[in-house]
Amino acid sequence: MKIIVAPSAGFCFGVKRAVNMALDAADKCRPLEKLNTLGPIIHNPQVVKSLEEKGVFPIDDVDCGCFDTLLIRSHGVKAEVMETLKSKGVKIIDATCPFVKKAQNYINEAALKGYFIIMVGDKNHPEVQSVISFAAKDRFLVINNLADLEKVPVSEKLALISQTTQDVDFYKLVIDEINKIAKGGAVVFDTICDATMIKQEESKAIASNVDVMIVVGGYNSANTNKLQNICKEIQPNTYHIETESEVNPEWFLNAKSVGITAGASTPDWIIERVLKKVRDIDEAGLKRFA
Ligand code: SF4
Repeated sequence: MKIIVAPSAGFCFGVKRAVNMALDAADKCRPLEKLNTLGPIIHNPQVVKSLEEKGVFPIDDVDCGCFDTLLIRSHGVKAEVMETLKSKGVKIIDATCPFVKKAQNYINEAALKGYFIIMVGDKNHPEVQSVISFAAKDRFLVINNLADLEKVPVSEKLALISQTTQDVDFYKLVIDEINKIAKGGAVVFDTICDATMIKQEESKAIASNVDVMIVVGGYNSANTNKLQNICKEIQPNTYHIETESEVNPEWFLNAKSVGITAGASTPDWIIERVLKKVRDIDEAGLKRFA
């Protein structure tokens, strides 16, 4: 069976940077200082567990007073939370991805110029919450589907921004629709990051050329879920898994080729284990006896 692994599968630049900063800090701070991350460092339970084994636990409550140093993850944090932390004199390690910072700065600038902000993304996602917190109060709308377009205040001066992991085609569609309905059109910020675009393009190309597609990553990872949706539309035999233990030999019964891609928060060691499991199934001929 031919096995194709997407070259971009796994940690993106921002996640790699945040995890390395957390590992570095764990070595420097522990055991004398208590180091925590604000929320899970990334949306991957296996990586969160490996940091916990080093004594670095996620917390949600910045008022708990239970830490010496707090690491801000790649999604960033709401503007008001950062202000609170600074005012309390908390030692902060800021691992906000530079692409997310760029989006925060865009919104800040657009808000100061009086724009009403439309953000395309999942309103419950921590990155969206951190970025949109830079908009002026009641001067923004987060949309996640075309039906939400009817809520757009079409007479306003509009600025359009996207979650960094948004589906490129969907963002283009929203831009087109808003330009049709908004009286003065919209200023558009290009905030889908390169890592996301490359991953999506590679995954699409692989899914179009294989019999089975495997997407590896946390079930709570937005970008992994996006990849799985994109691949499933092209190849219905697409399976989203978190670890190699979920690989089912029955998937490969009539398969001549399999593709593997992975979200931005999936570590290399999990991808390698999945690859090994698929190879083992193929070499042992288990697929014929499943
Ligand atoms: S997906 Fe892009 S924006 Fe998000 S953390 Fe990775 S590099 Fe940064």
